[in-house]
Amino acid sequence: LVSRKQKPEDTIIDIKGELVGNGIPSFVFGPCAVESYEQTAAVAEVIKAKGLKLMRGGAFKPRTSPYDFQGLGLEGLQILKRVADEYGLAVISEIVSANDIEAAIDHIDVIQIGARNMQNFDLLKAAGAVNKPVLLKRGLAATIEEFIHAAEYIMSQGNGNIILCERGIRTYEKATRNTLDISAVPILKQETHLPVMVDVTHSTGRRDLLLPTAKAALAIGADGVMAEVHPDPSVALSDSAQQMDFKQFDEFYEEIKRLNWVT
Ligand code: PEP
Ligand code: MN
Repeated sequence: LVSRKQKPEDTIIDIKGELVGNGIPSFVFGPCAVESYEQTAAVAEVIKAKGLKLMRGGAFKPRTSPYDFQGLGLEGLQILKRVADEYGLAVISEIVSANDIEAAIDHIDVIQIGARNMQNFDLLKAAGAVNKPVLLKRGLAATIEEFIHAAEYIMSQGNGNIILCERGIRTYEKATRNTLDISAVPILKQETHLPVMVDVTHSTGRRDLLLPTAKAALAIGADGVMAEVHPDPSVALSDSAQQMDFKQFDEFYEEIKRLNWVT
């Protein structure tokens, strides 16, 4: 179902009026985790000021260590809903359990399925059975073929609104947190009709590489870029080394605009 052979034309996903995959890049900015209403609203304000529509924020955080901040859970989804309503934004948040899909439908505009859950087949099927766009991330050690099959799990249940997101894969290289597989973008575009985004924050784990990798992603044909923005990354409860502060966000996005990637 996801194959370009079955459907030659690009799938365009309408998220509250933001068209992902229509040839004009879409951007998803926002904090790694929803930490409070004030923190989330502060980010929403700068996103809105740029005329952008899509915001991310994790409520359920799949952390490597059980002792790290696990997210605010349902309270986080409620904060996202409030902020989306107040600022007229569409919000994207990761859901880690099929049991939470129902809560997600009422609170968020896009269900994110994270790298660690790319082959959680119950979760894929549950997300496939609802009428809500899904942003599916590539697994940490998943081949492109496995990634496409994971998308097929979702679509086989009826939900065709899927955005594929390359977020780096695990290799022996230690200079970056993961290795951004940039060639996955044109391969996924050739093999499937789905929009493809690149998450530059989790691919690199390095603030200094966000802009160059975003440029590469757009140059190679990505339909969008995701990057994390936090009011004060130094006190962020997760991913403090790679989130942009507001000044860095401004520089990042103005450079993207200067290069005419957006109008
Ligand atoms: C995230 O986007 O918040 C995240 C945890 O990313 P990933 O699943 O790609 O590691
Ligand atoms: Mn993060």
